[in-house]
Amino acid sequence: MRYVYLDHAATTPIDARVLQVVMPYLTENYGNASSVHSPGRKARFAIEESRERIAALLGSAPGEIVFTSGGTEADNLAIKSVINAPGHHFITAASEHEAVLRPAERLKKLGSNVTVLAPERTGAVTQQQLSQAMSEDTRLISLMHANNELGTILPIRDLAAFAHRHGAYFHTDAVQTSGLLRVRVDDLGVDMLSLSAHKFYGPKGVGVLYVRGGVELEPLIEGGAQERRRRGGTENVAAVVGMAEALDLAVREAEDRLARVTALRDRLYTSLRQALGDDFVLNTPVEEGRSVPHILNIAFPPKDGRPLDGEMLLLNLDLEGVYVSAGSACTSGALEPSHVLQAIGLDRETASAAIRFSLGKENSEEDIDYAVDRLSAVIRRMRN
Ligand code: PLP
Repeated sequence: MRYVYLDHAATTPIDARVLQVVMPYLTENYGNASSVHSPGRKARFAIEESRERIAALLGSAPGEIVFTSGGTEADNLAIKSVINAPGHHFITAASEHEAVLRPAERLKKLGSNVTVLAPERTGAVTQQQLSQAMSEDTRLISLMHANNELGTILPIRDLAAFAHRHGAYFHTDAVQTSGLLRVRVDDLGVDMLSLSAHKFYGPKGVGVLYVRGGVELEPLIEGGAQERRRRGGTENVAAVVGMAEALDLAVREAEDRLARVTALRDRLYTSLRQALGDDFVLNTPVEEGRSVPHILNIAFPPKDGRPLDGEMLLLNLDLEGVYVSAGSACTSGALEPSHVLQAIGLDRETASAAIRFSLGKENSEEDIDYAVDRLSAVIRRMRN
């Protein structure tokens, strides 16, 4: 049987070239970067060289790069370390990742003023909405570069400029765009930006928070003096080296990777319409430039009053060797309909029967054709 992995927004396989540079740091180069002896200095050199490479690729200074355990920690660090007094006002949107929404909830409980904007049907948040939400106390706005379920891209440069005109900091979660689109902080003009290596063929458990010089950052994790006291804990040297290599490869190969997934997504969407007609609604704005080209989100509304069981849909596809995601979180054993799909206005039943396809550099046209063929067979079976 064929197996087709179409869940790259969840995670990507590590690139063989990345693994090759990671391995020596898991074996013979095991020094602690804080030690003064030669093995320690070797590890320190690897960390600082990786920091310089990543900074150059992102358009920042090396001192503005803070290594974290991934996107979740980077988002938490950005938000909790800047919104740290009761009077501070924080603005975000209901379509953000949990890594932003849960910290926002906690801050609210602790007495901060938090505004969660409702996105439009496309997942977009407008400057007008921000304008209405702004107050004199607004200290930070956090809006993602591209939505991880819908793919929708936000005009981050304009939104960051807007925040600055009103004296607020701007953070963006760029976990779904870094390593795919051109993501440069000097171009976007943001104060903070999160990325995660496992989304661009790097190792899991490592990420970056870019923090512009001048932004005061209180550490979330305190201990040693690592990361200039912004993040305590012995550095994960192998993962950091792997992340730098993965980002470098992604930037160098961006044009090819982009062209490839764009063509595959067009093929996917066209074939889905041919096979399934208007049996599904499209949740991703597929017009050029409005979404990242590797994500396509569709949902199946109830037919003749009968909803489609989203969990069964995923399991049936799994049996056929097609690995996709529902865009739903698995909480306490049950699939909860996606908070993002509900935030953009889908009813619970339709939001429960959604599929997020996310394509990667190793996918082929045959993969797409196989997935569409199997999906339409599964849908036909389930609808009857
Ligand atoms: N933010 C977005 C938009 C994501 O898609 C993810 C990954 O699921 C995260 C944050 C969390 O990143 P990590 O898995 O590295 O903690």
